[in-house]
Formats: sequence, structure tokens, C-alpha cells
Amino acid sequence: MRIEAVIGDITKQQVDAVVNAANSALAGGGGVDGAIHRAAGADQMHEACARLGGCPTGDAKATPGFGLAAKWVIHAVGPRYRDGRHGEAEALASCYRRSKEVAEVLGAASIAFPAISTGIYGYPPEEAAHVAVQTLKGLESKIVMLVRLVAFDEYTLSLYQRELRL
Ligand code: ADP
Repeated sequence: MRIEAVIGDITKQQVDAVVNAANSALAGGGGVDGAIHRAAGADQMHEACARLGGCPTGDAKATPGFGLAAKWVIHAVGPRYRDGRHGEAEALASCYRRSKEVAEVLGAASIAFPAISTGIYGYPPEEAAHVAVQTLKGLESKIVMLVRLVAFDEYTLSLYQRELRL
């Protein structure tokens, strides 16, 4: 798997699957979740998510991408950050691992991730970038060839670039 980091909007990525920073109810929300639902088509996405019956923290489930360029959306549920001592890093790493596994089941060759948990869920961006990149570096795939980390700001991009060099 090649791992790259870019700055951009997750809803605009031309990849087989984009990952959503979802909540466990898969009910839609703000941030990435709201943007993905709007860009995909809110009604269709809401219905498809409702059929999945929720998703535990650290896990991921897929729907079609509907109006997005991406064929699929992988809804991953990141942890809410408390103090770092409540299994947050394990749960966040699990999001990246499970999303990649779901992508493999779908046959997705390219997948784009937002910085899961670093918005409304309050995960410190430095720690989240470390978990994201180091977890992905430890994975192998014969199906997923490209992993794109999509930063929404320059600072997050610089964190990814540093972690990719480590
Ligand atoms: P969470 O609830 O998991 O914290 P958020 O959606 O609130 O998720 O934010 C996750 C990260 O995604 C934040 O760093 C935020 O700046 C970024 N973000 C928000 N909108 C977009 C977007 N359209 N594309 C890419 N990243 C985005």
C-alpha cells in the first residue's frame, strides 16, 4: 500500500472509497459526516445508513457513495477523546485497520481517510496523526494499493508528512 498525504476536501476525492468520520448511530452529523451526507445525497445516504443498524466505536461499515465520485463510503466510528487513558489510541487504530479490511471486501484499490476523531471528538491532532500513519504503515494489502490521508488544514498535513518520514 502506498500512503500519501494531501490537503483537500474528503467529499471531492477521486478514489474507490472514502472514509467517513461517523458516529455510532450512523445518523449523520456535523463536520466530515455532514459534508459526506450532503455531497452523497442526504436522503439516500440516511436511508442506507439506517439499514446498517449502527456501528460500534473502532469498527467500520460500508454504503454506496451515491452522488460522490467515490463508489463507496466506509463509515468508521472514531473514539471520543477523554484523556488518552481510555483506549482511545486502540480504538482509533482499529478504525484504520477495519476500514482497510472493509475496503478489501469491497475490492477498493484506493481509499481516502479524513483525520478521524480530530474534530468534534477532540482527539489531539498530533497523536491522531501518529496513530493513523503508524497503524497504516503496519498494514499490507494485495487489494488496496493507495491510501490517501486527506488533511483539512496545513498543520494536519505537516503532521502527516512528519509521520510518513519516521
Ligand atoms: P470527529 O467527529 O471524528 O472528530 P469531524 O468531522 O468533526 O470528526 O472532524 C474530523 C476532521 O476532519 C477534523 O480535523 C476536521 O477539520 C476535518 N474535516 C472537516 N470537514 C472536512 C472535509 N470536508 N474534508 C476533509 N476533512 C474535513
